[in-house]
Amino acid sequence: MKIGVLALQGDFEKHSLLLEQLGITPVRIRYPHDLDTVEGLVFPGGESTTLMHLIEQNAFRTPLSEFAASHPVLGTCAGLILMATSVDDSRINPLGLLDIDARRNAYGRQVFSFTDQIQLTHFPDQRVSATFIRAPKITRIGTGIEILATWKNEPVGVMSGNHMALSFHPELDGYSGFHKYLFLS
Ligand code: GLN
Repeated sequence: MKIGVLALQGDFEKHSLLLEQLGITPVRIRYPHDLDTVEGLVFPGGESTTLMHLIEQNAFRTPLSEFAASHPVLGTCAGLILMATSVDDSRINPLGLLDIDARRNAYGRQVFSFTDQIQLTHFPDQRVSATFIRAPKITRIGTGIEILATWKNEPVGVMSGNHMALSFHPELDGYSGFHKYLFLS
């Protein structure tokens, strides 16, 4: 199985390693036609304003929306921001793949980045560490959105259909459970 990792900017390498560990072949997506070769897509973390700019500049918006309509998509951190319906930053016109709103950098600046245990809704006994780096907060949960993970009772991992978004970076802690659930189950 081949899964694309949007490689315009951000931490696409670590996602690729995680996919390889699951026996999936990661494919760097740099141009819209690269999407033709893959069965799913990861939007990595990075800088959402830069990513948005590059998406518009490379005529990626429509191909990404069309691809997402029939394929699984995972977004982490800046990726969550891109997948949201509304974001508190006018420079970002998100793709609206999930009926959620997001607030950028809502857990504080870079110096307030942290790693802590999150709670998994379906596996309450599992201990999973998650790293938050200038992470977005999910400020609204729309209808049909399932909460997969919480931190201090706030949603930090959500899903609807075959679209999943996480505020944190599972790839930095080497946790492949979310990738596995979305792409392999
Ligand atoms: N703060 C970044 C943004 O809003 C996201 C940070 C990240 O992806 N680690 O784009």
